[in-house]
Amino acid sequence: MEALACESGVYYEFNKNNAYTKKVASGTTIKIETYDCYKNQIQSEEISMDAINWHEINPATGPIYVEGALPGDILKVQIEKIEIGSQGVMMVGPGLGVMGHRIEKRVAKILPIREEKIIFNGIQIPLNKMIGVIGVAPAGEGVSCETPGAHGGNMDNKMITEGATLYFPIFTEGALFSLGDLHAAMGDGEVGVSGIEVPGAATVTIEVIKGPTIQHPMLENAEVFTQIASAQTLDEATKIAIEEMIDRIVEKSTLSLEEVTMLMSAVGQIEICQIVDPLMTVRFVVPKWLLEELGIELI
Ligand code: CA
Ligand code: ZN
Repeated sequence: MEALACESGVYYEFNKNNAYTKKVASGTTIKIETYDCYKNQIQSEEISMDAINWHEINPATGPIYVEGALPGDILKVQIEKIEIGSQGVMMVGPGLGVMGHRIEKRVAKILPIREEKIIFNGIQIPLNKMIGVIGVAPAGEGVSCETPGAHGGNMDNKMITEGATLYFPIFTEGALFSLGDLHAAMGDGEVGVSGIEVPGAATVTIEVIKGPTIQHPMLENAEVFTQIASAQTLDEATKIAIEEMIDRIVEKSTLSLEEVTMLMSAVGQIEICQIVDPLMTVRFVVPKWLLEELGIELI
């Protein structure tokens, strides 16, 4: 299996001008190591917040050039495995997240991870290993690794876990795929602005799909197919995710727009991924049994 270490290169912006650190064939399985979102700078709760380089936040490892990938194609990324370090870190602070207006100082907490549990003041939290930052280079200007978008990026979607498959629109030759910001656990919303941040490695299989096109990332797992969207507000993101899913099902099925709208109103779920990054992210979730009933595949 191919491997990519953090030392090969990390960056803080998804950008089509970033030099790739590795070139792989479509269909390659690769293990990608990642720092945590603070670039492993917080190893103690006593660390001075002035000692941290706040420019080095959300490093993504890569980018990886995928042979044959061209603008308009889709990059299919199967999450095979997520391995994490033996401790996580969380942080809250003034201006950060939903409670930032009432929190007076930055506070970090180190959380040991033992036997599939995260230990928080003696409380055992179940693991929900996931990838916060994952995507391809966007079309125009670079986008900070703190910001989600049509290219993926900091989506902080707790469904991006082992067994999930992501689909990204490709905007540039080679796609320039990368990932970082693993979480040992995170709730929908990521309300305090950090998940349980961990270093680790994600093993993924990357494949170029020619033919179908998508506007924003999609995700599927064993049970559901989802449309992801990010925008300035949750309202806007919600509208984009639902409309793109409905348009896709109308295109693939023999049902009318009215009928698909009814079906989505009956069984579709709009869910929040995160509300604390520069853009908000949601997913619109459709059960796979419905797609089977309709006899369609979305990609
Ligand atoms: Ca994140
Ligand atoms: Zn994170």
